[in-house]
Amino acid sequence: MQHTDIIIRNGYIVTINPEMDILENGALAIEKGKILAIGNTEEIEKNYTSENVIDASSKIVMPGLINGHSHIAMTYLRGYADDILLRAWLEDHIWPAEARFVKAQFVYDAAIHGCAELIKNGITMIDDMYFYSKETARAATKAGMRAILGEGILDFPMAFHKTPESMINYALEGHEEFKDNELIDFALMPHSIYTCSKENLIIAAEEARAHDMLIHTHLSETKKEVVDCLKAHGVRPVQYLDSIGFLGNDVSIAHGVWIDDDEQKLLAKKGVGVNICTECNLKLASGFAPIKGYKENGVTISLATDGVASNNNLSILDEMDMTSKVHKAINNDPTFLPAEEVVRMVTIEPAKIFNKEDEVGSLEVGKKADIILLERDKLENMPMYNVYSHLVYTMHSESVQDVIINGKVLMRDRKLVEIDEDELFEKAKYYQKELQKN
Ligand SMILES: [Zn+2]
Repeated sequence: MQHTDIIIRNGYIVTINPEMDILENGALAIEKGKILAIGNTEEIEKNYTSENVIDASSKIVMPGLINGHSHIAMTYLRGYADDILLRAWLEDHIWPAEARFVKAQFVYDAAIHGCAELIKNGITMIDDMYFYSKETARAATKAGMRAILGEGILDFPMAFHKTPESMINYALEGHEEFKDNELIDFALMPHSIYTCSKENLIIAAEEARAHDMLIHTHLSETKKEVVDCLKAHGVRPVQYLDSIGFLGNDVSIAHGVWIDDDEQKLLAKKGVGVNICTECNLKLASGFAPIKGYKENGVTISLATDGVASNNNLSILDEMDMTSKVHKAINNDPTFLPAEEVVRMVTIEPAKIFNKEDEVGSLEVGKKADIILLERDKLENMPMYNVYSHLVYTMHSESVQDVIINGKVLMRDRKLVEIDEDELFEKAKYYQKELQKN
């Protein structure tokens, strides 16, 4: 009998392994942050023992959800400006507020709040772009959140940065400072092709590759961005990035709304993944990502919330429901994007996009123990015939009961273990008052 850190028993386990196995009455043994064994409960309990046993009798056990694009330090800007055009939203509201308020402490406090909210939404990994990203790294570490983080790189001064070099250097410093942190990876994240010169895009990509870091950027979120790119460079955004050597399988893009067939083929050929932000694109009326084309052309796609300032929540379960329904409707095809596929788009597919499919995205022996438990025994969740259908069309974040990241229990019965929620309320009220004075 081997002693382990945690045993989860009697669960309805959705593995998302290559065979998409489901284990009824399944169990997992967790040791040193990883999945040591998975199988039926009797089998696991014959071989493993633990003082920390989680009974999952009425629960769905699945890999933690991955949020492919966020700005969690914008939590305090939730609902700050809504119902306006993207450019005006950024230029007249968000950027001026950020210029005044975004300081190291603000980012740390907002990021802790954001991490707490992510955990309550069953999200165990994010890909996050913002300023003072080392503060976000500290907050994520305290909260226990797995995160790929990058300092937004722009041509003009932002936060404490006077130059794009300062933004790039800051991310490189983060990479060095957090290199032994199991939860944190730093990436280079040029904000977009409309805020970064060709030179800065090239330098960012080169620096990322010199330091074995991932690259992430917003791309083709609006039609205007494509029109402007054609005017400035004579080609569409994906071709433009390809022409400067930017694209590769270390690159992922957020949004990818206005991407034509040739661009989709190019993304597939270069191994670039797309993180689709359906609700944010709907709210800002940016358009509909060409999911059908992405699938036909073999582009890896995942779902993301974007920041709460534009979404205005961090529910990936909501994104799943909305994306599936909207794309069935616009394709006039109820068989399009079946639930099982949508669940893969928030687990194993984003893991592939971030080159982490050997570590996260499914429940398999040797992978990181990033696991969530959802309650089936609720009036609104009964009965259940198909677990994927349930996850996409029935369940909301309130069904997420327990969250484990890197083998550490961070939420138990919807109560956060590491974070004091009362403190978060007080801080949120304080910052709301400060922002309202503006
Ligand atoms: Zn964004």
